[in-house]
Amino acid sequence: MASPTGILVGSYSRDLVVVSVLISILASYAALDVARRVAAARNKLRIAWLWGGACAMGTGIWSMHYIGMLAFRLPVTIHYHWPTVALSLLSAVLGSAVALFVVSREQVSLRQAGLGSIVMGGGIAGMHYIGMAAMRLPAQCRYSPGLVLLSVVLAILISSAALLAFKLQEDSIVSGWRKAAAALLMGMAIPAMHYTGMAAARFTATARAPDLAYAIDISLFGTAGIVAVTMILLGLTLVATVVDRRFAAQSLALEFERRYRHLVETAQVILWRRNPESPVFSFINQEAESLLGYPLEQWLTRPEFWLEHCHPEDRVLVETSCRRAAESGEPQDFEHRIMTSSGKAHWLRSSIRAGADQAQNRELYGVMVDINERRRAQEAAEAAAQAKRQFLNNMSHELRTPMNGMLGMAQLMSSLELSQEHREYLNELTMSAEALLTIISDILDFSQAEAGVLSIRQVDFRPRDILQSTLQAFASAASRKGLKLRSEIDLEVPDTLRGDPLRVRQILINLVGNALKFTERGEVSVGITLESGDGEGVTLRFKVRDTGIGIPREKQQLIFEPFTQVDGSDRRRFGGAGLGLTVCRRLVELLGGSLGVESTPGKGSEFQFTVRFAGSGEMGKRQLSAAGH
Ligand code: ADP
Repeated sequence: MASPTGILVGSYSRDLVVVSVLISILASYAALDVARRVAAARNKLRIAWLWGGACAMGTGIWSMHYIGMLAFRLPVTIHYHWPTVALSLLSAVLGSAVALFVVSREQVSLRQAGLGSIVMGGGIAGMHYIGMAAMRLPAQCRYSPGLVLLSVVLAILISSAALLAFKLQEDSIVSGWRKAAAALLMGMAIPAMHYTGMAAARFTATARAPDLAYAIDISLFGTAGIVAVTMILLGLTLVATVVDRRFAAQSLALEFERRYRHLVETAQVILWRRNPESPVFSFINQEAESLLGYPLEQWLTRPEFWLEHCHPEDRVLVETSCRRAAESGEPQDFEHRIMTSSGKAHWLRSSIRAGADQAQNRELYGVMVDINERRRAQEAAEAAAQAKRQFLNNMSHELRTPMNGMLGMAQLMSSLELSQEHREYLNELTMSAEALLTIISDILDFSQAEAGVLSIRQVDFRPRDILQSTLQAFASAASRKGLKLRSEIDLEVPDTLRGDPLRVRQILINLVGNALKFTERGEVSVGITLESGDGEGVTLRFKVRDTGIGIPREKQQLIFEPFTQVDGSDRRRFGGAGLGLTVCRRLVELLGGSLGVESTPGKGSEFQFTVRFAGSGEMGKRQLSAAGH
C-alpha cells in the first residue's frame, strides 16, 4: 500500500524473520566450529577448511540476509537482479574467508584483529547493500545516512565480537553452553544489523517500470529452496567439523603412538618391562638385540633369560636388585656384566623401578645403559696404575738397597783404624751417598705421588716414639753443625693412635732435614700439640721450627711446587732436587690434613702440618674421650 506521499510502506512476514534469525544462529554456531578446524588443520587441509568454511559461513550469512529481504513485503512486486545477488553472496564468502584466515593464525595482534573486523564487517555490510541493489521494483530506494552508518558500525562490531569469540573458543575458554551462547548472541546480532540496514531504506513509488533484465521473481518455493539448501549446507558443515575433529584426534593419537614407538625402538639404551612375579620379559626394545646379539624372542619367551646370561659373579646382584625393587618400591641402580652372544662379558648399568600399568597391575620397569667402554677404560687405567705401582716399588727397592749397602759398609769401615786422610775420604763418601739416597728417595716418592699410587697404612703407633726416632736420626748431623735439637710434646697428645707412622716420620724427616740444612746457628725444634679431638679420633698439629735463613714471602708458596727452590741458581749453596716439600704436601693431604709455612728471612721458619688419626684400642679410646672434651 502506497501512502499519500508515494512512500511505500513495507511489512515483515514474521515466519520468515524467525527463519532468518534461526539460520543466522546456525551459521554462527557452524562458524565457531569451522574456525577451530581451520586453526587445527595444516597445509592443504587448512586451505580446504578455510574456503569450504568460508563458503558455508558466507552462504549462511547471505541466506539469513536474503530470507530477511524476502520477509520484507512491499505493495509492489519485487524482482531480483540475480548477477547482483551472486555478487552479494561473493561479498559474504570473501568477508568470511578473511575472518577465518585471521582467527586461524596462531598469533593475532590487535591491529590484525581490527583490520579483520573491518574487512569482515565491510563484507557483511557490502553483501547487504549489494543485495539491496539487486532489488528490481517500480519504486525508488533512498537511504537514511544515519541508519546506514549505524548498520555498518554494527556490522564491524559484530565482526570483532565474532573474532573474539573464535579466539576464545580456540583457547578452549569457550566450551559447551558458552559456545552455544556465543553462537546465539552472534546469530542475533547479524539480523540486528540487517534489519537496521532495512530500516535505513525508504521506497517511493515511481511510475517507471523497473528494468527486469536478468531479474527473477523469488516465489515461496524459491524461498523454501534457499532455506533448505542453507540448512543442509550448514548441517553438513557441522557434521564435517565433528568428523574431522574425531579423525584429527585419532590421527594425533596414532601419530603420538608412532613417534613414541620410534623413540623407544631407536633409543640407545635397553628398555624393558616385566611382571615382578614372572621371570619373562613382557617387553624389551630392539637395542637389546643390537647390543647383546640375542634375538628378542629369547628375552620375551625364555624364563630367567637375563639371569642365565649374566656374568656368574653378578647373578646374585641382579637377582637381589630385582627383588628389592619389587619389594621395597625403591629404585635400584647397579652395574653388572652380561655375556653377549659372541661370548664376551659386556658391562651395563641397570636401573630398575617398580610401577603399575594402566590396569593397575604391578610392573617392573628397567633401563640398561651400555657402559662397557667406560668400564674397560677404567679397568685398563687400574691395571696401568697397578703396573706403575709395582714398577715404582721395585725401583725403590732396587735403588735403595745398594745405596743402603754402601752406607752400611762405610759405617763399618769408619769403626776401623784409619789414617786422617782416609777418614776424610770416608766422610766425603758417606755424605755423597746420603745426599744421593735422599735425592733417589725424593724422586721415587714424587713419582709415586704423581702416579697417585701413594698408599696409606693404618696401624697402631705411639706418636712419642716417632718424634724420638726422627730426632735420633738427626742427632749427629745437628751436633756436627753445632745446632741444638729440641722436642716438645703436649701432655694431651694420646699415647697410642692409629694411622701411618712411617708417612708421618717421612714428613718430619723431610722438614727437620730442611731445617738443619738451612740453619747455620741456633736451634731446630719439633713439637706436637693436640688440635682437636672427639670420640672418633684426634687431629694433631706438628711444628718444625728453625732459626735459619728463612724464606722470602713471595717464595713461601712456590717452594711447595715440584723442582722449586728459593735459590735455583748454579751458585747455590744447598743441594736437593726441590721435591721434598711437594711430596710432604701430598702426603699430608692424603693423611687428611694441610701443610703450611710461616717464615721471616734472616730469622727462621716454622713449618706446620695437621694429621687426623683414629683412636686405637681401649686405652686409646679412654684417652680420646679425655682429649675430646
Ligand atoms: P730441596 O730438596 O731442594 O730442599 P724442598 O722441596 O724440600 O727441596 O724445598 C724446596 C726449597 O724450599 C728449598 O730448596 C729451600 O729453598 C726452601 N726451604 C725449605 N725448607 C726451608 C727452611 N727450613 N728454611 C729455608 N728455606 C727452606
